[in-house]
Amino acid sequence: MIHGTSAPVESVDWQTLLATSITDVRTLLERLELDTTLLEPGLAACAEFPLRVPEPYLARMQPGELNDPLLRQVLPVGEELQEQPGFILDPLGEQHSNARPGIIHKYHGRLLLIVSGGCAINCRYCFRRHFPYADNNLSSQEWEQALDYIRADSSISEVIYSGGDPLAANDKRLHWLTRRIAEIPHVRRLRVHTRLPVVIPQRVTDSLLEALCDTRLPVTMVLHCNHANELDQALAGAASQLRGAGMLLLNQAVLLKGVNDRLEDQIALSERLGDNGILPYYLHVLDHVRGAGHFHIDDQQAKELVGRMLTRLPGFLVPKLVREVAGRASKVPLPIELLED
Ligand code: SF4
Repeated sequence: MIHGTSAPVESVDWQTLLATSITDVRTLLERLELDTTLLEPGLAACAEFPLRVPEPYLARMQPGELNDPLLRQVLPVGEELQEQPGFILDPLGEQHSNARPGIIHKYHGRLLLIVSGGCAINCRYCFRRHFPYADNNLSSQEWEQALDYIRADSSISEVIYSGGDPLAANDKRLHWLTRRIAEIPHVRRLRVHTRLPVVIPQRVTDSLLEALCDTRLPVTMVLHCNHANELDQALAGAASQLRGAGMLLLNQAVLLKGVNDRLEDQIALSERLGDNGILPYYLHVLDHVRGAGHFHIDDQQAKELVGRMLTRLPGFLVPKLVREVAGRASKVPLPIELLED
């Protein structure tokens, strides 16, 4: 049932699901039958980064299980407030790459458009948890200026919709933007980085497919799924619709302590992605953002984990292990340790 209504999740449109997300720690704990001693530290952590969990995501968690891998990604905890050396506000230096409002231009040939500052879920490990989205909320005139920026740089062959979550924008906005970008001759590809279909699969509608696919541009969607339990029946249906519309589907995950740091977690995730025609693309080591230190895994463990995956899965189901480093010309691959035990 949706929070505050009697409607079952499956029958509700995505805008209502977005608007009725749980944002209150007490409600989250009660719904999952968890100990209320978690309330006080949870509220303190929320003062820095609010709670947000949509109902379809909550429905995939196990009540009473504090170690549920989906819950751990969203539950605000006291550890977030402990200072950790090296964990800072803007670990990727994005505020220097924010070329103009709405644009992050880090790498040659491609740029990110902040299509929406909003997200459907607040992931506690998010490297943009302190990003100044309010400064990137564009007026119509600023959108035109962002398009001028792309038009003026013929090296830009790929535009990436990012956020926040770009699919938190409405279809009318996405359709308008996609058509305008497709009019720029040197743009060859569109990429959409989103977690929204994972947490609210109802976001995938005919109207969305038309908004993204109704141009000459080939579209790649990079989903953000961290655990096999996130890939339920509803998401499988959404993935099938996206593929049916001609999109290439990739996944990126973040390696998170207590969520997906065991070999069996990673294998189950890759297998489930493969079952649904989604290729594992990147496994990111954690960005050192303030408040996320409790998710940290050391590099050696990460390299060995992916090395073991290679001995158990076909190569195309093994993601590239990468780190993003401020100021580098691309993501930095980590050399894996091939262990054959
Ligand atoms: S959906 Fe993406 S941008 Fe939004 S909080 Fe989660 S990781 Fe961050």
